[in-house]
Amino acid sequence: MGEKVNEQILTQVLAKIDALWEEELSFLQAIGCYPSTLGNEKAVQNYVAKYFQEELGLEVDKIFPDPKEIAGHPGYSPAEWSYEGRPVVVGQWKTDKPKIGKSLILQGHIDVVSPEPLCFWNYDPWDATIVGNKIYGRGMQDMKSGIAAMVFAVKAIKESGLELGADILLETVIEEECTGNGALAALERGYVADGALIPEPFGMSGLIAQVGVIWVRVRVIGAGSHVERADRAVNAIEKAYILVNALKDYEKHINAKPKHKDFEHLEHPLNVNIGLIRAGDWPSTVASECVFEARVGLYPGQDPYQIKEEVKEWLLQAAQADKWLRQSPPEITFYGFHAEGAALDRGLEIFKELEWAHKTTTGEEFEFGVTTATSDMRFYNLYYNIPATCYGPLGGNMHGADEWVDLESVKAVTKTYAAFILSWCGVHRG
Ligand SMILES: [Zn+2]
Repeated sequence: MGEKVNEQILTQVLAKIDALWEEELSFLQAIGCYPSTLGNEKAVQNYVAKYFQEELGLEVDKIFPDPKEIAGHPGYSPAEWSYEGRPVVVGQWKTDKPKIGKSLILQGHIDVVSPEPLCFWNYDPWDATIVGNKIYGRGMQDMKSGIAAMVFAVKAIKESGLELGADILLETVIEEECTGNGALAALERGYVADGALIPEPFGMSGLIAQVGVIWVRVRVIGAGSHVERADRAVNAIEKAYILVNALKDYEKHINAKPKHKDFEHLEHPLNVNIGLIRAGDWPSTVASECVFEARVGLYPGQDPYQIKEEVKEWLLQAAQADKWLRQSPPEITFYGFHAEGAALDRGLEIFKELEWAHKTTTGEEFEFGVTTATSDMRFYNLYYNIPATCYGPLGGNMHGADEWVDLESVKAVTKTYAAFILSWCGVHRG
C-alpha cells in the first residue's frame, strides 16, 4: 500500500498543503459564516460551486434531490419539506489520460444543526472565530473543517502540477443531519466511484461501524379546559409523560439485549433522544395537545421498518395501561431518518491505504473506530457496493454551544487525504 507513491511527489504535495494553509483557513472561515441549517444551504452551496469552478477548475454539477426519483430507494428517508433551491454540489476532476488507479469520491455535508439556544454561546456561531489552535462556530467540527481538508488535499495536488490516474469527485451534500437524501440523490444521479471518503469529525481513525437511526413523532390529545375544571379535564402534557417514560424504558430494554459485535465494548450504544416537545400555550389552560419527537438508534443488520413497528407497538402497549390513552391512543408517525446501520470489514483495501496514508503523514499508529451516530457512508457501502469510510478532524461540543475544531488536526487530515489520493488514484508521470 502506498509503496507506489513517489516520495518526492508526496513531499512536494505535503509542502504545498503547508503553503496553502492560510488559504485553507480562509476557505473554512468563509463557509463557516454561512448559516446553512436545514432549508438554508443555497448560499453556501453557490459559494462552494463557484469555488470549485474558479479556484480548482473542476467541472461542476448541481443536483436538486427529487423525492419522486429517490422515494422508492430502500435508503430514502421521508422528508416533509421541499428541495427547491437546495442543491447538492458535485465538482469533478476528470483525467484525460488512461485510468491507472481507482476513482474516488470525497464527500462532506454542508448542512449544520441549529445553534439555538444562542445564550449558551461565548462566540458568534456564524463568525468562525479563531482562538489559539481552535476555531469556534456552528459546523466548525461537524463538518465544514472536514470539507476544507478534502478540498485542500485536492487543491494541493492540482497546484503541484500533478495529474491523477483516475477521476476524483468533490461533493458537498445537504441533509446529512436529517435524512441523507442529498448523498442518495447524487449516487442515484450516477455519481459513483471505486471508493469514497467522508471527513466526518469522528477523529483520525477509520470508521468500521455506525448505528442506524429513525425519527418518531408522537401526538397525544387531551381534553382541554380552564384550569378551574382541571380535575375533569385531561392534560395532554401529563399524558405524554407516560409515553416519554415508556420510550426511555424502551431504550433500557434495547441496550440490555445482546449487542452487535462492533458495539460490544460500549455500555450504551443505542440512544433514544427526546429532541423536541410542543404543547400548550397558557399556564392557566389545560393543554389539549402535546407532540413530541424522538430519535431512536438501531444496530447494523436491523431493519428500520421493523424497528419502527417495534417502537409503535411498545408505545401503544404503554398507552393500554392508562385509561385515557386507551380510549384516545397516541398518533404515532415517522418522518426524517430511515437509516440502516452499517458495519464494514476491516480487511477492505480502503482501510489498508488509509492506514498507510495516516502512518506516513502523522507517524502514528492507525486505529479503527465506531460511532453511535449515523453518517452518509451507509449509502455507499449498503446500496452501491462502493467501499467508503469516515476519517476526519478532532473537535468538541458537536451540535452544542461553542462547537470547535482543532486546527492542527484539520491540517493533519488534509495531509492524510492528499497521501491517500496519490496512492488510491495513482499519478501520471510526465
Ligand atoms: Zn456530521
